[in-house]
Amino acid sequence: MNPDPYAPCLLCPRVCAVDRTRGETGFCGETRAVRAACACLHFGEEPPVTGPRGSGTVFFTGCTLRCRACQNAQLSRNGLGAELSVDDLAGIFLRLQREGAGNVNAVTGTHFLPGILEAWQAACARGLAIPLVWNSSGYETVDTVRMLAPHVAFFLPDLKTLDPALAAYWFKAPDYPRRAAEALPAMAEARPLERGPDGLPTRGVIVRHLVLPGRIDATREVLAWFSEHLAGRALLSLMSQYTPIPGQPLEPPFDRGLTPGEWDAALATLEELGIEDGYVQDLEPGTEWLPDFSRERPFSAELSRMVWHARDGAPAG
Ligand code: SF4
Repeated sequence: MNPDPYAPCLLCPRVCAVDRTRGETGFCGETRAVRAACACLHFGEEPPVTGPRGSGTVFFTGCTLRCRACQNAQLSRNGLGAELSVDDLAGIFLRLQREGAGNVNAVTGTHFLPGILEAWQAACARGLAIPLVWNSSGYETVDTVRMLAPHVAFFLPDLKTLDPALAAYWFKAPDYPRRAAEALPAMAEARPLERGPDGLPTRGVIVRHLVLPGRIDATREVLAWFSEHLAGRALLSLMSQYTPIPGQPLEPPFDRGLTPGEWDAALATLEELGIEDGYVQDLEPGTEWLPDFSRERPFSAELSRMVWHARDGAPAG
């Protein structure tokens, strides 16, 4: 480990090696100053993460992937967010707990890992008692997984694709399949599934896979890999919500949502491979659910309750 993990920055598989302590930025676009757009109680995550009280999501600015069709592009690409000190971020974690959150759900925080862990420890010293959920793209190093494991109840990684050409097209990371195929088993080893008396998972790994239009072959490859390497050790969350984002034009077939036939084919593959433990979304076309982080309330009222927004400036702890 470097004396300062931001200089040179090797925090994610991009290994940009820039000095973020001097204001330099790499692919993620961020210096060492932690920035976030908002924090809210979220009621739309997978059942064990949402729980009965909502998940305390914190949406960080910047991203190590910056996908072509990112529903959070205002944060991942356009830099929306406010700078937070360690104390500020610890204060947000504590406020989420006071508002009733069942956990703190760090969304896309890999590039701020040292700052988040520092704030986490500071908040724990001030009475934080809810667990951490690490909600990431799956583009992680095994070192990152090991650093996080002692603090995390759920790893919530994506497994976007195992096709290097698709990964190169989609987020300029042809090594994504190899990196994710190393990181996700390391997560499952570090955080084995545990269940409460009611059978609901209380800790573990939930792997998210978003089905892409016109690429059921890529979904089949992901599900077959999951079945071979993680079934029984992690849960699968199959997602249908791919939506072309206004203002982010893409060529066919990515310029449309899934068809019912494609979604049925994905579900049939799940069944054929015997993957039963996990969650599937309903296929609901439309863009109403897309977040708009420039609004005071980025998500619908059924989906979330705001606790802090960047436009409010630094939070009062
Ligand atoms: S965290 Fe950012 S700067 Fe560091 S290696 Fe990854 S993309 Fe590059």
